[in-house]
Amino acid sequence: MNPALSELQGLFPPGRLLTRPGELAPYASDALTAFRAQPLAVVLPESHEEVVEAVRWCVRHRIPYVARGSGTSLSGGSLPVEGGLVIGLNRMNRLLRLDPKERLAVVEPGFINLQVSQAAAPYGLYYAPDPSSQPVSTIGGNLAFNSGGAHCLKYGMTSNHVLAARVVLPDGQTVVLGSESLENTGPDWLGLFVGSEGLLGIVTEITLRLLPKPEAYHTVLAAYDALEKAGQAVAAVVASGLLPGAMEIMDALAIEAAEAAVQAGYPREARALLIVELEGEAPQVEAEARYLEEVIRQSGAYEVRVAQSQEERLKIWRGRKAAFSAVGRLSPDYLVQDGVVPRSKLGQALAEIENLSARYGLRVANVFHAGDGNLHPLILYNGRVAGELERAEALAGEILQLCVRLGGSITGEHGVGMEKKAYMPSMFTPEDLEAMQRIRQALDPLELANRGKMFPGDHPPHRPPSGPHPLEKAGVIARE
Ligand SMILES: Cc1cc2nc3c(=O)[nH]c(=O)nc-3n(C[C@H](O)[C@H](O)[C@H](O)COP(=O)(O)OP(=O)(O)OC[C@H]3O[C@@H](n4cnc5c(N)ncnc54)[C@H](O)[C@@H]3O)c2cc1C
Repeated sequence: MNPALSELQGLFPPGRLLTRPGELAPYASDALTAFRAQPLAVVLPESHEEVVEAVRWCVRHRIPYVARGSGTSLSGGSLPVEGGLVIGLNRMNRLLRLDPKERLAVVEPGFINLQVSQAAAPYGLYYAPDPSSQPVSTIGGNLAFNSGGAHCLKYGMTSNHVLAARVVLPDGQTVVLGSESLENTGPDWLGLFVGSEGLLGIVTEITLRLLPKPEAYHTVLAAYDALEKAGQAVAAVVASGLLPGAMEIMDALAIEAAEAAVQAGYPREARALLIVELEGEAPQVEAEARYLEEVIRQSGAYEVRVAQSQEERLKIWRGRKAAFSAVGRLSPDYLVQDGVVPRSKLGQALAEIENLSARYGLRVANVFHAGDGNLHPLILYNGRVAGELERAEALAGEILQLCVRLGGSITGEHGVGMEKKAYMPSMFTPEDLEAMQRIRQALDPLELANRGKMFPGDHPPHRPPSGPHPLEKAGVIARE
């Protein structure tokens, strides 16, 4: 047996070290199934110390590695490096502490997003970032991708809700970034780490902020006969000065898919639906609701429904949350894009995406966080038809270029990963990219952590420096 693997056997017991092809298959891809790679092995640590051991083994043997939560990345972020190690963190899934007085929770990285709110509910608290994948995605993955969700319009992304993180750096050293205090000293190292897509280290313990649950909600479902009108309505709500908890748009294809999956009772003939939710203290929500009604009426909605009960509210959200995966019912394959445009350009962007869809002859479903200008076009294709995947990728590329041209960004929340690294130069200058690389190189001179992701070009994009690794110099590891 490969001597490096037999050493790994000494670190991880059978059942937590996977090497057989059948065991590795579920790890060969993430939710972006167009990419696949075969890792050498998967380890399933159960403690911080075991993560340190795994990382040090990788450094000793110069083996690239990828941290993995639930593998729901839509940009190939948790795709393994061919022949590398996958460090699966799902077994580190404990709630370590919940402090209702300080309104915080301390969790291991494999703890599931939705479970944070479930654990906090008896204290009238919840965890605000709510990606649609929240029943399955992990807090470690959310932190690495700075994930967002429908309610991030009002409350911000994951980065606004993480207070501290215990991190195993790419050389195997442990650091704690941030603290339980809301006011930290010195540079915002935690801010640098959140959203670094597994390139700067593996988080093994995370301190999260909890918020009091809103006292009241007012949820409106507005139907439009044109997608562009729904986009313009979002700009009108923002311009009115209201700050809803969430504003989401679904187009005709997304409505069809959601209805088929969960029968949310949406108006099936609508070309677009806008969901707007106000939340907060009851008198404030009541006053805002009257104002919102006026804005929506003027926006050209042909039907407006207001949820009259918590049950009706949840039904509206059930459709929206299911829409993403439900699109799988309409087509054997689809690519999910994630780009951002200024909210004032939403109508224009949606109209241009419709034109692109017609030009490429591929259907595009839109279901997205409209309040943030965060588009999620889902490009439907059939992978078994020669050339369709390539056409879908080219269309996806045009949508990203459109976002940049309109003054937005190539990703809102799904990260760069494998999928979008080629587009980084359209947003950043060579100097910007070089500065990012220098930070990465300072922490990971061998470029082992999530190698091949985020930065354009062939890896290693920079030649690893020759000479001993800092850990070798310190006598912590020995060269093979
Ligand atoms: C149906 C569906 C809906 C989705 N909806 C949303 C949405 O609304 N908003 C949104 O933001 N995303 C959404 N996503 C994308 C995805 O769920 C998020 O990116 C999520 O945060 C990934 O979590 P995960 O546990 O699956 O992480 P993985 O996919 O396993 O990993 C994601 C990245 O994090 C890194 N990573 C994982 N764990 C750690 C760790 N402990 N330390 C350091 N790095 C780590 C990985 O290396 C990888 O780069 C959706 C995905 C699907 C399939």
